[in-house]
Amino acid sequence: MDRLLANASERARAYLNAIQSRRANPSEDAVAGLSVFRESLPEGPTEASEVLRLLDEAGSPATTAMSGARFFGFVMGGAMPAPLAANWLATAWDQNPGLHLASPIGAELEEISLEWLVELLGLPTGCAGSFVTGATVANFTALAAARNAVLHGVGWNVEAEGLFGAPPITVIIGAEAHPSVYKALGMLGLGRERVLRVPVDSQGRMRTECFPAFQGPAIICLQAGNVNSGAFDPAREIIEKAHAGGAWVHVDGAFGLWAAASPRLAHLVRDFAAADSWATDAHKWLNVPYDSGLAFVRDEAALRAAMSISAAYLPQGDHREPSNYTPELSRRARGVDVWAALKSMGRSGIADLIERNCASARQFATGLAEAGFEILNEVVLNQVVVSFGDAETNRKVVQAVLDDGTCWCGGTVWQGRGAMRISVSSWRTTPEDVQVSLAAIIRMARSVLDAS
Ligand SMILES: *Cc1c(COP(=O)(O)O)cnc(C)c1O
Repeated sequence: MDRLLANASERARAYLNAIQSRRANPSEDAVAGLSVFRESLPEGPTEASEVLRLLDEAGSPATTAMSGARFFGFVMGGAMPAPLAANWLATAWDQNPGLHLASPIGAELEEISLEWLVELLGLPTGCAGSFVTGATVANFTALAAARNAVLHGVGWNVEAEGLFGAPPITVIIGAEAHPSVYKALGMLGLGRERVLRVPVDSQGRMRTECFPAFQGPAIICLQAGNVNSGAFDPAREIIEKAHAGGAWVHVDGAFGLWAAASPRLAHLVRDFAAADSWATDAHKWLNVPYDSGLAFVRDEAALRAAMSISAAYLPQGDHREPSNYTPELSRRARGVDVWAALKSMGRSGIADLIERNCASARQFATGLAEAGFEILNEVVLNQVVVSFGDAETNRKVVQAVLDDGTCWCGGTVWQGRGAMRISVSSWRTTPEDVQVSLAAIIRMARSVLDAS
């Protein structure tokens, strides 16, 4: 065990030490090399060191350099040193934090991190929280609490009775909501299709004047940080209207909620604190390893009613039992890496991370605009949507950027137009990385345009 872990650590260190000088995208050869894993189920044992060697030699080259400085895809952050190292230690601990009794350290670090996060994200004091795999499940968890509460309000116990015969719930959602919100609604029996979609403006924000009238149990889904533009829904107006009608307001703030951690950007998200529940990711802008998402719910009882394991199944202690707040019972101790990120960066370190990434996004937008390309969004956060021409041209430029390997950017469709999206979410990204990446993107775009 000892030699094996040293071996793993050495391989991981070599991998990370080389991440700055390698391609952002795995080469075609490296992906083709994955065929060595396609064998029939091994009949007998293989030396653990041999398993590790195969994984490193054939697997490492076929990774995307997501923890590198020039990965700008999907709003994915790179794991920072402290949470990565803490995650290794916690994996060695092999803790199951479902119950406080089973893992005091796992449960305590979750509770402490939640308290710190409520403060950092500007959420109402005392609101309950939940550690989950990502924002998709955070949306699911918070919307389960919402479903419980709005039906409870009309005398229906959805946990006991289910949805058959229940009063209908009106679900109102922005036309630019993230697909994961639809998925969560589908999993909750609220339906992906029976929602009312509010039209949006040029940045993807709900148009307040189009917000529909509603009656009875209702859930409104707002967005803090559009996955393309980074834009924020007009929270104050919509939350006022929603609460006047007794609705529950949920916020998908997978990355946008972290704006609250920066004094310079907190104004973008301040009004969302009046909502009833929030979903966010730690594996995006807090730069912790996968998988790590968070749900917050103002009404602790609603979250617990939706998520608790029956009292008869497991003994209740004097402590907050993590499994009463989250869909899973057994799971990894996600609080360890989140705590390590918060402890190592502190308030000022997190503000600095958020602000540096937003400055990098502005640097991208300025550089691309100066080169004559069209920026399709107002760059309010860490997201840049750029167009190099028609849909086919954009597709070719994205492919050329991936083939070049200097940096990683993805294609997207923004308000019906093909485009390329740049998300800056990693602690590693410096102004020099942006400069080098800009030069590569501009070079690729010009070569595609020259060839057409
Ligand atoms: C990334 C993202 C999600 C989904 O998060 P996962 O962690 O991938 O489940 C949801 N909403 C928004 C706005 C996102 O950016």
